[in-house]
Amino acid sequence: MQCELCGKKIEDPYIIILEGTEVKVCKDCSSFGKIKKKPKSLEKKPFKRRVKVEEPKVEIIEEIVSDYDKKIKNAILKSNQKLEVLSKKLNMKESSLRAFETRHRKPSIEEAKKLEKFFKIKLVETIELGKQKVPLKSEENKTLTIGDLIKIKKKK
Ligand SMILES: [Zn+2]
Repeated sequence: MQCELCGKKIEDPYIIILEGTEVKVCKDCSSFGKIKKKPKSLEKKPFKRRVKVEEPKVEIIEEIVSDYDKKIKNAILKSNQKLEVLSKKLNMKESSLRAFETRHRKPSIEEAKKLEKFFKIKLVETIELGKQKVPLKSEENKTLTIGDLIKIKKKK
């Protein structure tokens, strides 16, 4: 096919309206009239699916070490200070300290951090959760309908 205006060889013409008539032209000549149709290759751009890739969510949780009681007890012993004194320094109730070292109460993260700093011990551990990708709802996870159950039974 040739451009009806300049005679240039074209494969995919522009169809323009030039002085009321449709003319098949090349790209260069398409500006001479009003474009009615663009070449097929330009008309429809391949539909690109945007695949949203979600980053696996990493949740960091802080947890009190399991042997917090022993650690606190040892720290208190090592400090060689009375609970009364320590509680004032820590701005914590004496009863709380006693509860921690006897495992009657788990310290909160805040309390544990305070104790960590004061006694220079490790009481809080961080755990990263959700590093694995959360599996998408697969066929396997799909709850079976009665129809599915019948199919399964028939297979046997
Ligand atoms: Zn042309």
